[in-house]
Amino acid sequence: MFNLILFGPPGSGKGTQSEKLIEKYGLIHLSTGNLLREEIANKTALGLEAKSFMDKGQLVPDEVVIGMVGSFFDKHKDAKGFLFDGFPRTNAQAEALDKLLTFKNTSIAVVLALQVSEEELVKRLLGRGLTSGRSDDTNETVIRARIVEYNVKTAAVADYYKQFDKVEDIAGEGSVDDILASLCQSIDARMSKVA
Ligand code: ADP
Repeated sequence: MFNLILFGPPGSGKGTQSEKLIEKYGLIHLSTGNLLREEIANKTALGLEAKSFMDKGQLVPDEVVIGMVGSFFDKHKDAKGFLFDGFPRTNAQAEALDKLLTFKNTSIAVVLALQVSEEELVKRLLGRGLTSGRSDDTNETVIRARIVEYNVKTAAVADYYKQFDKVEDIAGEGSVDDILASLCQSIDARMSKVA
């Protein structure tokens, strides 16, 4: 298996690039944000609990997200690899992911960390809010809260993977195609090492 984490703050382009990367490399896309929004749309108990955090721009509790990822794995036993988007967002999630992957006799090959300035993030998220129908993208206070959550809880996840030499920083401003090319260059280099 080849598993990668697309890492970066809200609005850094993870969703956009994920769609292209899963197609090119035949990976299964695991976006915890998408899974949580599906739970909300289906009005499940998990969705109801998650919504109260998401509406405030806060992270959903680790045990909720980790349980959801475990069920997702059970549904995709034949995957040749996963692209993790928006997960892990805390060190506890990263440790849980390592354990889940160890059970599958695999691990994370690379963490690609998109670098985008805060002002650009806010601009992109407000722009997305005009058309995405996502309530967490229309309110600047909620957007700023998500960026604070990222800085306080999620940024440290990169340090967790740095100790294993798995992180590559990728410039996340510029054209979608140029950023995709940089991501692919890093992936191809890592794949040749894993293979
Ligand atoms: P973005 O990256 O634009 O913030 P996501 O769709 O990844 O968007 O996530 C939307 C919201 O869902 C987050 O603000 C957070 O409340 C919740 N969420 C998504 N993934 C996680 C996670 N791994 N851990 C905790 N909360 C999460």
